[in-house]
Amino acid sequence: MRLTVIGTGYLGAVHAACMADIGHDVLGVDVDVEKITALAEGRPPFYEPGLDDVLTRALASGRLRFTTSLREAAAHGEVHFICVGTPQQAGSQAADLRYVDAVVDGLVPHLPASCLVVGKSTVPVGTTARLTTRIAGLAPAGVRAEVAWNPEFLREGFAVEDTLRPDRLVVGTESPEADAMLRRVYAPMVVAGVPYISTDPNTAELVKVAANSFLATKISFINAMAEVCDAAGADVVTLADALGHDTRIGRRFLNAGLGFGGGCLPKDIRAFTARAQELGVGAAVAFLDQVDEINQRQRARTVALARRLAGGDLAGRRVTVLGATFKPNSDDVRDSPALAVAATLHREGADVRVHDPEGSANAQLAHPELRCSADLLTACQGAELILHLTEWDQYREVDPVKLARVVREPVLVDGRNALPHEEWRAAGWTVKALGRPTPT
Ligand code: NAD
Repeated sequence: MRLTVIGTGYLGAVHAACMADIGHDVLGVDVDVEKITALAEGRPPFYEPGLDDVLTRALASGRLRFTTSLREAAAHGEVHFICVGTPQQAGSQAADLRYVDAVVDGLVPHLPASCLVVGKSTVPVGTTARLTTRIAGLAPAGVRAEVAWNPEFLREGFAVEDTLRPDRLVVGTESPEADAMLRRVYAPMVVAGVPYISTDPNTAELVKVAANSFLATKISFINAMAEVCDAAGADVVTLADALGHDTRIGRRFLNAGLGFGGGCLPKDIRAFTARAQELGVGAAVAFLDQVDEINQRQRARTVALARRLAGGDLAGRRVTVLGATFKPNSDDVRDSPALAVAATLHREGADVRVHDPEGSANAQLAHPELRCSADLLTACQGAELILHLTEWDQYREVDPVKLARVVREPVLVDGRNALPHEEWRAAGWTVKALGRPTPT
């Protein structure tokens, strides 16, 4: 099938490459010329494991091309996927839909024939209904564009795998023809047994924000328990392990630490709250404000722990932050808890070095005041305090004996509760973490 994928960022670039990989004829579209040039040359514009292989394969097959022209996109697609950003509005909790609207406004007047417009971006409930009216008003005479919402659940770091083998596909549309077309688009997945859930647009839009709200709540729940553990002298990791054995609860997303960040969870729960308020049901999701607050508090608690370890004042202290990205296996530093902590330590006068295996260039761009490096030993040289804030595998493999020789003081804050504390202590390190008692 002839597909366009409009917006080739973390979501769209992977979607475009994977759709070509399963046999479709795909045109990727973006306003960012540099991104389009890189993708057309087979260079992923960001770090995502496995994307380079799929991209190379898809380009070589001749089934994947890129453009900056929405006119060209209009001429190409039977199905147009909208994958542009829906960030938080400045000065409000709500989602900013201007990029989605701009795509519709730029695409629809040029449509030569009837087709399907499918949103994949995360949007407030009611967006499909609003766009259906907008699209009908913009379409040339005799051209009908059906609309569907097909929210995306991929995880950065596993985006290729999640796109090719998703846990489920959710499609919301009022049009049986649109649903049938999307079943054809995703036929290889459907045949392989991926659950395909057909529903109305409002439900489809809500599934995505409800899923993110649930995940965020699970993380903030365990972080709230970590605060209680700190006050009571209990151990949140043992608590999480014990809770996780209950199959109704499950162990995943119960890792206490610095909390969530990135370009999705924080802005999605805020946008959900704002939309629920518009719908007059703000009280139903008021708990999400607490989820957000608990999450932000872990950043402050981590800084406070660092300050305490520095004797009450961080001014002039050499601190190294391990991890800049919001999660491992990505170079994405959007709303990264690790970088937020690093920036606060810097503001408090600490001499901060930041290390990240893949995200140091993005971190440096976002925070020119920090010194970011992709070399671990250089970043740790002379440190009086190390904070482990993004759980890259590479950090679990660090030899604490060797690292102790490079630093000035062997003091570690494990902000992700992911390092082998006993091993580090045996190598002479003082190890502290949120929600963990210090062994006597
Ligand atoms: P992103 O910022 O990486 O990508 C968005 C892209 O859209 C950019 O390349 C931008 O240049 C492009 N764009 C903006 N306006 C455009 C226009 N008028 N025409 C063409 N291109 C345009 O964002 P992302 O992380 O890929 O997220 C996109 C959407 O997908 C968001 O709604 C997000 O919430 C949702 N989502 C993201 C993920 C994820 O893990 N990143 C997962 C699921 C859902």
